[in-house]
Amino acid sequence: MTRIAIVDNEKLKDMQQKLYIQSICPVNRTGKECIKVEDGRLTIDEHLCTGCGICPKAAPHAIKIINLPEELKTQPIHRYGENKFVLYSLPTPNFGHVTGIIGVNGIGKSTAIKILASVLKPNFGEWTRHETDYDELIKFFKGTEAQGFFEKVKEGEIKVAYKPQQVDLIPKTTRGKVIDLLKKVDEKNELKRIVNELQLNEILNNEISEISGGELQRVAIAATILKNANLYIFDEPTSYLDIKQRINISRFIKSFINEGNAALIVEHDLIILDYIADLVHIMYGKENCYGIVSGVKPVRNGINVYLSGYIKEENVRFRDSRIKFAEKPPIKKKHVKEAITSWRNVEKKLGNFHLKSEEGAMHRNEIVGILGENGIGKTTFVKILAEVLKQDKGEVSHKVKVSYKPQYLESSDALVVDVLHTAFNKYPNQIINPLNIEHLSLSKLSELSGGELQRVAIAHCLQQDADLYLLDEPSAYLDAEQRLVLSKVIRDFVEQKNASALIVDHDLLFVDYISDKLIVFEGKPAVEGNVTGPFDMEEGMNKFLKELGITLRRDPETYRPRVNKLDSRLDREQKESGKYYYV
Ligand code: SF4
Repeated sequence: MTRIAIVDNEKLKDMQQKLYIQSICPVNRTGKECIKVEDGRLTIDEHLCTGCGICPKAAPHAIKIINLPEELKTQPIHRYGENKFVLYSLPTPNFGHVTGIIGVNGIGKSTAIKILASVLKPNFGEWTRHETDYDELIKFFKGTEAQGFFEKVKEGEIKVAYKPQQVDLIPKTTRGKVIDLLKKVDEKNELKRIVNELQLNEILNNEISEISGGELQRVAIAATILKNANLYIFDEPTSYLDIKQRINISRFIKSFINEGNAALIVEHDLIILDYIADLVHIMYGKENCYGIVSGVKPVRNGINVYLSGYIKEENVRFRDSRIKFAEKPPIKKKHVKEAITSWRNVEKKLGNFHLKSEEGAMHRNEIVGILGENGIGKTTFVKILAEVLKQDKGEVSHKVKVSYKPQYLESSDALVVDVLHTAFNKYPNQIINPLNIEHLSLSKLSELSGGELQRVAIAHCLQQDADLYLLDEPSAYLDAEQRLVLSKVIRDFVEQKNASALIVDHDLLFVDYISDKLIVFEGKPAVEGNVTGPFDMEEGMNKFLKELGITLRRDPETYRPRVNKLDSRLDREQKESGKYYYV
């Protein structure tokens, strides 16, 4: 097969449109049945299709014709159905190591790990068959490391524990208290220790349906580690967690890996992936169409190759451009700019929680990042600035028009094109195209994935006429590449409009990449939060990283930030000199 056709019948409007598309196919016009419309479904025969490009032009949101790379002559591992996503290879777990998987959303990462976890039986591209046994898998992978892996699975020598991506779905299938769930899976008899390490004591008697996203994530990780397994698979273990919790979870998972077991991790936070993994597979291809897994690489090299967009050993260019980082932190801007909003001695009480601020201001053409733990009042403060909430005490000047993207996104039956009317008309090149929203225009918000809905919500915030854009957790649900693209979109947009932006986020690399200045929240989650800053990057990061107990260095090749190994020479030197942020 040299090309694949992907058809989303849900997105084709009606029978008339399907018949029209069928009628314009040049192969059909010669009397052959390349495009078929049967039982209300449109399908494309990939062997007859010449790749002329006419039908995807007629329905770009629903049909994609992809020419596969020349060298991709292998049989697929799995295909979801006729004209549906195809996966061509698998990552391989390495015993004694944490292996990361990096790649854009929709490239098959979850499919690949579900196959390794035996949650999904691969069909080798023949979607009409139902069962595959291990002998077939072993034969298929003959001569590769995966052969050994599936031989061990067949002999019962590998037992897999798997944490799924969407922890928010757990309450839909599991009822009862947290303690009951954890007791049920405690095959190692280590409940007490693990509950302590993951700080779950206070929620043990809470109903699973009532705990927050971050708590669900930690419960799911505890449940995975409590199982008596030797391959631990974690699909996005840090979503909903703040930076402190991300670092703790990384240390926790790493501490469990020894010569007798292995971990596989899908993670979009590049600083965390770099910190937790020893090795990395890159996944590339075309989103929602096909995915390929690269050979395994040491983590530093793997992330650098991912940023470069080119895998030399496999001679594959999977992105046109290289993702670059600045060599130096932003230079302190000396000239005083116009203050667009300011605050002084703000106080707000919400139940037992008390928020306080010092004096601070934001200026025109400035992006300020906000760092702090979960439950420390970041969203409350943003809401006060956005006039969604009123402070109890203190002053906030509201000289400016504010546009606000909340942390939690509301879905509805509205069409994307209607919600983003202004962005489609006024900012196609600044917002719609770089955020890859065009093809979603006729979808309802309720039909979008988490990452798609996030991009639409960001575009909705940016399309408003405002002086200050407040974005609460814009990186959630986005992959590493989308996060870096988003930084550029916000930067360029804010600069062009001579506006400002305030960004609350837990991805340290994203915050570092986008911010000119930092506001740092201190205090005790659920008890008190103190707003300090804005500081320049060096001062703000030093303050925040000192509190976390980690130091950062720049990678000499890509200039991306990396976390120093705890107690390494650099870590000690930087801590002694008080330079937690880059030397
Ligand atoms: Fe027909 Fe293929 Fe051309 Fe589509 S791309 S019109 S299916 S030949």
